[in-house]
Amino acid sequence: MRLLLVEDERTLRQQLALGLKRAGYAVDEADNGQEALFLGDTENYDAVILDLGLPGMDGLSVLKRWRTNRRVMPVLILTARDGWHEKVEGIDAGADDYLAKPFQMEELLARIRALIRRSQGLASPLLECRGIVLDTRDSKVTVDGWPVVLTSHEFMVLDYLMHRPGVIVSRTELTEHIYAQDFDRDSNTIEVFVARLRKKLPPDAIKTVRGLGYQLVVEPCP
Ligand code: CA
Repeated sequence: MRLLLVEDERTLRQQLALGLKRAGYAVDEADNGQEALFLGDTENYDAVILDLGLPGMDGLSVLKRWRTNRRVMPVLILTARDGWHEKVEGIDAGADDYLAKPFQMEELLARIRALIRRSQGLASPLLECRGIVLDTRDSKVTVDGWPVVLTSHEFMVLDYLMHRPGVIVSRTELTEHIYAQDFDRDSNTIEVFVARLRKKLPPDAIKTVRGLGYQLVVEPCP
């Protein structure tokens, strides 16, 4: 999953980016409103963390512009501790959740996981399909109860597909959601990750749909 992190305080942004990357996310960073607006308008993120007090253009204006432009990605705003007014304004402007500063990294991670799940209509933190169980809380995967060790990229591909059971996902889409913007992207490597994943998963769990992409085959899911 790929996130946009918008925060102008350099130290805080670096700490958050590090924590998010360690948790397995691809992270793009912006330190001002205009850049955030541009990235959110042109790139596809699984969720956005948006500070409200930003140079150039404030976070609330950025958020309103995104929603006017029909950008529907989940957005979590970072607010001042006692800023109830900010929270109300933010939610009314289209924010999906908020977190008051200062906060613990664990809480941010939990809220991001929940936002991403809910944006795909999933309620449980445990994603299950064809004997594959992916626990979004600790990024652990089991197949028929047996632990499976995945590399970070293999996990990112499976995580993205498990959030969209039955949906055909193109290689381009997968590439967009597992690499940060500054990464030298190569959609051919997706084939390699999928080939490796297939060896670790039940046979035929990931189907290739010729010319379109990959699909996590849902039967016999409940
Ligand atoms: Ca700020």
